Amino acid sequence: MIIQPKTRGFICTTAHPEGCASQVQRQIEYVKGKPAIKGPRNVLVVGASTGYGLASRIVAAFGSGANTVGVYFDKAAEGSRTATAGWYNSAAFEAAASEAGLKSYSIVGDAFSDEIKAKTIDLIRTELGQIDLVVYSVASPRRTHPKTGEVFSSVIKPLGETYTNKTVNFHTGEVSQATIEPATEDELRQTIAVMGGEDWQMWIDELQKAGVLAEGATTVAYSYIGPEITHAVYREGTIGAAKNDLEATAGRLHKQLSAAGGRAYVSVNKALVTQSSSAIPVVPLYISALYKVMKEKGLHEGCIEQMYRLFSERLYGQGETLVDEKGLIRIDDWEMRPEIQNEVAKAWEQLTTENVYELTDLEGYRREFFQLFGFETDGINYEADVNQEVEIPNLR
Ligand code: NAD
Repeated sequence: MIIQPKTRGFICTTAHPEGCASQVQRQIEYVKGKPAIKGPRNVLVVGASTGYGLASRIVAAFGSGANTVGVYFDKAAEGSRTATAGWYNSAAFEAAASEAGLKSYSIVGDAFSDEIKAKTIDLIRTELGQIDLVVYSVASPRRTHPKTGEVFSSVIKPLGETYTNKTVNFHTGEVSQATIEPATEDELRQTIAVMGGEDWQMWIDELQKAGVLAEGATTVAYSYIGPEITHAVYREGTIGAAKNDLEATAGRLHKQLSAAGGRAYVSVNKALVTQSSSAIPVVPLYISALYKVMKEKGLHEGCIEQMYRLFSERLYGQGETLVDEKGLIRIDDWEMRPEIQNEVAKAWEQLTTENVYELTDLEGYRREFFQLFGFETDGINYEADVNQEVEIPNLR
């Protein structure tokens, strides 16, 4: 069928298989063009189909020659409904990894469940023996607790006070004021349950208990800090509280794993266009302003550039892994440089609907958003008939 983008708010309900494959190939080529990394051999990526998780998997496989297991929650095509972007991305990744002679496996299902953890462990045991890196990159609006059955929903809200700031409809370019009421205690609790560290801890506990975590294994999860303008809604809001919990979990896991020479980190990554970040009010406008400044200064990075730097310079670089005073890896270092932030803040002050395309890279943001779903990708004929039904090789 002919597949065109169909958007509903900040989601796109269709995805293009060839466009997604081309985006994945571009990331693979980027990594192959860089010096090889003396990194992990066998890697589990939880949340592996899009964004930072996908980029981590690509760097592990094509930068370090690692075998990989990817766990993710994506849907196959059904009738005239296309598969999700993560499905097409993973199909392309699996095909390329096999072609390169790497072992790779996909498990599609709810990473929060006991069942998927058990299935993943069985697969590791039979196919890889042990893993030496676990990347935890799940971003989800909901989680069903595996022990109590309680369903938690996460919200992106400030704490204590109402927050008002500029936001943009990135489809139309309209800049308006977003006002978000503070979260209730229960919304805060639920957001921490979804995006905090409990599930990461459960994964590591189960992997360790099953004996499939190699001695000296590393685990890493991702966080964000960002600028003053988004603090109330992000870092000091519900999601920030969940990230505090994730970061505290890293501390506990580091102790737990260091007994066997292992390590656990949280890496603070750069703000980027992904399916998750486009759902956060204010953030897409900030990212558009940030992109403009970073591109002008030649410092712009996407997921793949960030993850290559994380693996090659920090996790598997020379010497000790560089961390800040809180023990966090700061791969957001370029984003947070004062000269970048000062310019973004200056633009932010003046931003209106009239000047948004001049002062920010909103056009770049919009394009990247569609590229997440395989659209607006060079070299793809969007008028051509394509088969929406794509199989994932090595799906377990
Ligand atoms: P994303 O939406 O692109 O990817 C999320 C992944 O999680 C997908 O592979 C999806 O299939 C998977 N997933 C969701 N629910 C699942 C479930 N129940 N079971 C199994 N898999 C599930 O998100 P992203 O932006 O790459 O975010 C990944 C991490 O990086 C998050 O912790 C996020 O906070 C962090 N981060 C993001 C940014 C940013 O700007 N995007 C910046 C810094 C840190």
